[in-house]
Formats: sequence, structure tokens, C-alpha cells
Amino acid sequence: MGSIIKRPNGTQDVTPSEVMKWHTVEQVAKDTAEQFGFREIRIPTFEETGLFVRSVGDTTDVVQKEMYSVSASGEGGYTLRPEGTAGTIRAVIQNGLLNEAMPLKLFYMLSCFRHERAQKGRLREFHQFGCELIGSADPAADADLIALAKSVMDMLGLGGIELNINSIGCPTCRAAYRQALKDYFEPHRAELCDTCKDRLDKNPLRLLDCKSEEDQAIAAGAPVIIDYLCDDCKAHFEGLKHNLDLMGIEYKINPRIVRGLDYYTRTVFEFISRDIGAQGTVCGGGRYDGLIETMGGKPTPALGFGMGLERLILALESRGCEFLDPKTPDLCFVTMGDEAREMAVKLATRFREDGYAVEYDLVGRKLKQQMNYADKIRARFVIVLGENEISAGTAKLKNMTTGEQTDITLGEDMVEAFAEQSYAELLSANDSVRSLFEAFTGNNNEPLQ
Ligand code: ATP
Ligand code: MG
Repeated sequence: MGSIIKRPNGTQDVTPSEVMKWHTVEQVAKDTAEQFGFREIRIPTFEETGLFVRSVGDTTDVVQKEMYSVSASGEGGYTLRPEGTAGTIRAVIQNGLLNEAMPLKLFYMLSCFRHERAQKGRLREFHQFGCELIGSADPAADADLIALAKSVMDMLGLGGIELNINSIGCPTCRAAYRQALKDYFEPHRAELCDTCKDRLDKNPLRLLDCKSEEDQAIAAGAPVIIDYLCDDCKAHFEGLKHNLDLMGIEYKINPRIVRGLDYYTRTVFEFISRDIGAQGTVCGGGRYDGLIETMGGKPTPALGFGMGLERLILALESRGCEFLDPKTPDLCFVTMGDEAREMAVKLATRFREDGYAVEYDLVGRKLKQQMNYADKIRARFVIVLGENEISAGTAKLKNMTTGEQTDITLGEDMVEAFAEQSYAELLSANDSVRSLFEAFTGNNNEPLQ
């Protein structure tokens, strides 16, 4: 036997026993996005490297140290996407979507790649649910987007989350702020990490986002941008707060939030979990009014967020939230002898045509082992077929939950007879699914506990 090859550091497998957590968050995210009028967009996993350098910014951690650039037989210059906004905006421009009805509201679910130090909640391949709202400069749009992100977490029953908001102004007010930051950090230059020495000259705002503890300690005393906002940016921030109040959404103003990507303007926000340790930001986003023009599109205000699905699932787990149940087989045929097995194949085919999840023995096991298997896969019903049943034309239908047995006539009408027997059972087996969808249709507004 060869040696076992392990998965790369910072990546994760999702085994069938874990996958329902993913189905749950993906389903809730998608349904909520659609409820807010967002439509799905899908984009390539890799793009030209220049796309990220131009949009994310060449002084950011992401571009300076975290990009996975790829090449194949002499073709260089491509990078695995470190985030979803750049590719989405590229696709919007390239496909002429800026000519559609505004605001254009798009969501996506995708993997991102960043060469980071892997730890809990920080992976090298991770997944984001992201939304982009394009074509509105109104703070009502900022609030609506924040409400969407919050609604996803509410629907999942996730508590212990705090919304932090800030404004990082526009190029006009940022000029004065940059100068104030330079004046503040210059006396500390020698103490800063090498990356930040460089940032002090090129993009002092990025100093506030440095992960080094020494640099963070210095940054703690730095002036805050909110004191430097121009009148328009101030009014926008007031508008955001007003709209959040209208929706009854609680928030904390946190002047330390600047976000890790260069393209943000005005509103920035994070949803932070108290329960998952140092990597507590489950969702981060903000406004990027200049980005579309920078990327060659007509000037269009826009904003978006990315929600980290691994961190979301960690937070849900630590709060003991529920996930959707896996689908279990409706029926399992347990057979004795070749004739019975062939009949099971035919009957199973009929049941499957009607949409039932049905299994029968594929291994050639004895009756007892087949029963054990039916138990393990949590089949809701079992039909035992042997020579006697075939010659009598009836078999026992066993309800595996209650142990109750009833006679069922073999043949054409069998599927209908089974449907009647299993209807009540089906409803109760799918309880958690139903409560989730009732919550969506408004029959029952309680979020999942
Ligand atoms: P952080 O400050 O934690 O590095 P970021 O500012 O780099 O986050 P964004 O680029 O805004 O994060 O990405 C949005 C969300 O994606 C984050 O809030 C987080 O939930 C998730 N995320 C980002 N990087 C990672 C990662 N390496 N592993 C897992 N999730 C991540
Ligand atoms: Mg980061």
C-alpha cells in the first residue's frame, strides 16, 4: 500500500455527516437573498492577476502576501480569487449588466483562496456567501444590505452577534485624514513592522488594519476618520443610522473598523461573533463607490458584503443551533432468494419513478444483515420479500420508527398504498425542514432555535 496523501494545510473536507450544515446555511442564504430581490451570479475561480491588484489594492495584505497565482505551460498572470467582489464587478461590466434596471442586486456562493497562516476560522481555501448592490448612492441601500446579512443570521437562529459600523469617508475627506495619520505614525516609524513602514508612505490607512500586536497597540491611539468626514459623508452616515433605526437594527459605531480591502468608501461594517475566538468577524462589507469606474465601467455607486461560511458554521455550532436533517430512505426492500431480489429491483424502480427514495440489497447479504443495513441508513419503512410473500402476493410493511407492521399487496397499486401509509410519517420526519420553510412563508415567524 502506498503512503496516505493528506489534504493541503488550511483546506477542509466536508464529509457526508457534516454536509447538512452546509446545505442549511446555503439554503437559508440563497432564500434570504432572493427574498431581498438578489439574483445569483457565477464567476470563474481564477482571473487575471491584474484584476485583484487594481481592485483590492496593491498595499493590502491580500495582494502583498496572500494571493495564489497560477500558471500553466507558459501561460502566467492568473490568480485564484481571494474574494468575490472583483470578479463580480468585472463580470457585471463585461456582460453589460450596468445597462439593466438599477439597482442591480447580485449574490454568489463561492470558494476563496488566500495564503494565510491557517488557524481556527482562518483557512487557505474558504467559502463566502456574498451580495453586491449596484447603482444606489442612497444610505437606504446600505441599511437594506445590512438587513439582508442580519436576516440570514436571524433565520439560522444565530445569536451573540454584534453589528459594528463605521464610515471611512471619500477621497475628499480622506486626504486630510491621511495626513493626520502620517503625522501620528511618523514618530513611531522605527517601531512599525516592515510592511507598515512601507504603508506609512503609500497608504497610511492600511496601518490600522495590520494584524501585528505591536502595530495594533500603536494604532490604538491614532486619530479616527469619523472626526474628519466631509459634510456629504457625514450626512450619508447619519442617513445609514436613521435607516437602521427604522428597521430596528441595533449597531455599535466602531471607528476602528477600516476593512482589509482598498476599494471601500464611506460605510464599512462587520458582524462579529462573541463565540468563536479571535477570528470573530463572520461578515464584513461596505460601500465601494469608486471601484466600478476604476475597473473601466461607467461611474456607478455600489456596495456589498462577504459572509464567511466556515465562521458562520463555527458560530452556529458553538451556539447549539439546529441544522436541516439529512434525507433518509423512505423504503428499503429486504429480500430472500433470487426471485425476491429481482422483484425488489422492479418494485424499487416503480417507487423511484414516483419520487421515493428506495434501496435494496446490492451486496448479496443475508436477511439479518440486510435488516441491520436498513437500520443503519435509517430507512423509514422496510418491506420483507421472500418466496412465501411472492406466492401469497402480499408482504409485511414495517414502520421502522414504531415497529408497527401492516400487510401490503404486491403489484401495481403498491405505490399508492405505500403513499397512504407513509404520509403522516413523512410529515413528522421532515419537521425541521417544515419549520424552516414555514418561517420563510410567514406562517410562523419564530426563527430556528
Ligand atoms: P480578516 O480581518 O478576518 O482577515 P478580511 O477583512 O480579510 O477578514 P474580507 O476580505 O472582508 O475579510 O472577507 C469577508 C469575510 O470572509 C470575513 O469576514 C470572514 O468571515 C471571511 N474570511 C476572510 N478571510 C478568511 C479566511 N482566511 N478563512 C476563513 N474565512 C475568511
Ligand atoms: Mg484577511
